[in-house]
Amino acid sequence: MELRAEIISVGTELLLGEIVNTDAQFLCRELSALGINVFYQTVVGDNPGRLAAAVELARGRSDILITTGGLGPTCDDLTKQTLARCFGLELVFDPESAARIRDYFAWRFPAGTMPENNLQQAMLPRGCRVLPNDWGTAPGCIFEAEGRRVIMLPGPPSECRPMFRERVAPYLRALSGQTIRSRSLRVFGLGESAVEERFRDRMNALTNPTLAPYAKAGEVELRLTARAESAAAADALMDPVQAEIQAELGDLVYGVDAASLEEVAFGLLRERGLTFGCAESCTGGLVAKRFTDLPGASAVFRGGVVTYCDQAKEALLGVPRGVLEDRGAVSAEVARAMAQGARRVLGCDLAAATTGVAGPDRDDRGNPVGLVYVALATPEEVFCREVRLGPGRDRVRTAAAHHAFDMVRRALQGLAVE
Ligand code: ATP
Ligand code: MG
Repeated sequence: MELRAEIISVGTELLLGEIVNTDAQFLCRELSALGINVFYQTVVGDNPGRLAAAVELARGRSDILITTGGLGPTCDDLTKQTLARCFGLELVFDPESAARIRDYFAWRFPAGTMPENNLQQAMLPRGCRVLPNDWGTAPGCIFEAEGRRVIMLPGPPSECRPMFRERVAPYLRALSGQTIRSRSLRVFGLGESAVEERFRDRMNALTNPTLAPYAKAGEVELRLTARAESAAAADALMDPVQAEIQAELGDLVYGVDAASLEEVAFGLLRERGLTFGCAESCTGGLVAKRFTDLPGASAVFRGGVVTYCDQAKEALLGVPRGVLEDRGAVSAEVARAMAQGARRVLGCDLAAATTGVAGPDRDDRGNPVGLVYVALATPEEVFCREVRLGPGRDRVRTAAAHHAFDMVRRALQGLAVE
């Protein structure tokens, strides 16, 4: 069954720009992974009249209405009342929810007394399916009326997300009566628009599985989603399309359902019993940070050196002063010397190095923002990439770190590194 969902985010803070609508982003991603189309998103303030108007519009064009926010105990929390009224339902007291709310308060505030208005959260539309909230107080709910399904979730992301994953997703999966599977092909080394251009016709033609590109910081994810009667049948639908994409993109696909470039690099290093370290200038420790974010990194990672100024590059890594003076810190020669120096001082098998201009201004030699040299020293060779990543300080640093991990991956997979 083809289902159309619509999200109504309730909260004046959203309209004032005080908070970002991360709940809607989360829900859209989850719904698309379930194979449910989202055609509209509305943001409306804590105002019953305008919320009712948004609901009227939504019910005319969507099968599933999902609201976030406004389930709490305060007087601006009007979502349940308004939705119930729109569908002609009354609110009734749910003793089980009330007991959970009391328990939650007793646990959180053993010495305190619970403000009575909290019990307002236990008033729910008659006949609804209650979604108990194990992550906060306000229960969510689902009701079906007039051919529409209405799902209400609390606003705080720490409640909205687990409530959706654990309570709503199983309900929606059962509705569609089908299994939805997806796969993510991670691509590094080709921009989103280039990927889109190459696959646009196929993306438009494919309906099951669907193929969609997602730009992530400095890389692209191609997501395949198939629906079928069983997981095996969904996999069988995706296999040929995946093979076709991989044949076309070759080793630009660094992983299927991989978490990140660093995770792939880490896996390869560990498999081969090799150690890793880094010397960083423009990334300021980001390579080391991302690597050590991985559980178990200590089996592989020897250490990282942040050398920001020339003296540090010379004193800590042994980069020759002459090279620094002749070539400047932002140069292939210095990147190579940093990587070699890191290998030596850290005693690791592979060492990556970054040096470049993160911005916002050119460096004193006039090198443009985003020019970065990333080097990798291995026991046999030293590789160096010159990359142009700008603008945007964060983007430059993130992409430079991506390159460092990509070079590790390619070196260990026997692919061209530079
Ligand atoms: P509470 O019980 O905390 O009052 P609620 O369901 O009534 O929850 P709101 O009062 O609308 O939700 O929002 C509570 C908080 O949740 C907001 O201050 C905000 O920090 C966060 N929040 C609400 N809606 C969103 C959203 N769409 N995206 C991200 N955060 C949100
Ligand atoms: Mg609230």
